Amino acid sequence: MLYRVEGLVIRSTDYGEGNKIVTLLTPSYGKQGIIVRGAKKLKSRYGALAQLFTYGDYSYYKSGTLGTLNSGEILESFQELREGLEGPAYAAYAAELTDRAINDDEAAAYLFHQLKACQSALAGGKDPQVVLRAYEMKIIAAAGYAPMLDECVSCGNDGGPFRFSSVGGGALCSRCWHRDTAALELEDAVWKLLRVFLALDLRRLGNIAVKPSTKRQLQLALRRWMDTHLNLNLKSRGFLDQWEKYGDLLGEQRRRPEPPPQNGDAGDGTV
Ligand SMILES: [Zn+2]
Repeated sequence: MLYRVEGLVIRSTDYGEGNKIVTLLTPSYGKQGIIVRGAKKLKSRYGALAQLFTYGDYSYYKSGTLGTLNSGEILESFQELREGLEGPAYAAYAAELTDRAINDDEAAAYLFHQLKACQSALAGGKDPQVVLRAYEMKIIAAAGYAPMLDECVSCGNDGGPFRFSSVGGGALCSRCWHRDTAALELEDAVWKLLRVFLALDLRRLGNIAVKPSTKRQLQLALRRWMDTHLNLNLKSRGFLDQWEKYGDLLGEQRRRPEPPPQNGDAGDGTV
């Protein structure tokens, strides 16, 4: 059967001699895997269609699980996202996150538009640490794990102050803090942004100026949430962490003070 879809390339891997397999996120068929024959050959007409982040119009034959590209056309190459180090790192993270969090064949029209808007925002120079946090929230919601932010998950109290409990499912009021001692205390600005991101259509994302401390808390809160509920173990995250130098903030074990040396342990004499 011949399909024709718009899609965003969220994964591209080598396959056999000179070919590639791409995973597209499409509005109507969710994720679709397509073989692009000869994609790696220099003169290939379709090489650019197989590049990560490309937005294109794809026609492919499909009978089993994988399709085979018949023809296609680039609608937007998103070349900016392949340049430098930072752009590719952020965009690759968004692509991998999408690939891992979404099941095959899940209709994904809304998410498709969110990812496309995310790529456009990154390509357009909007603050990637804001764009990605907003996109993470879209993924979380699409996967069915939206946090409850406006009232206490435990008792329903809608009066703050709240703490953010990943295992609890969202906000915990002061009467219920004891239910999750690891719940995070967050700045008001972080609560506000979490709520905004949950409701926001990324196609309408403007330029939001966010303080560094707010960004760090946002990242921590969303990461805790994703680790608790999605557990994706993303390859692209390690590089991004190094890039953002946020690894230390999140590696609590590394930050925990060393236990005092036992008697007889040889120290180096400095304090
Ligand atoms: Zn409560």
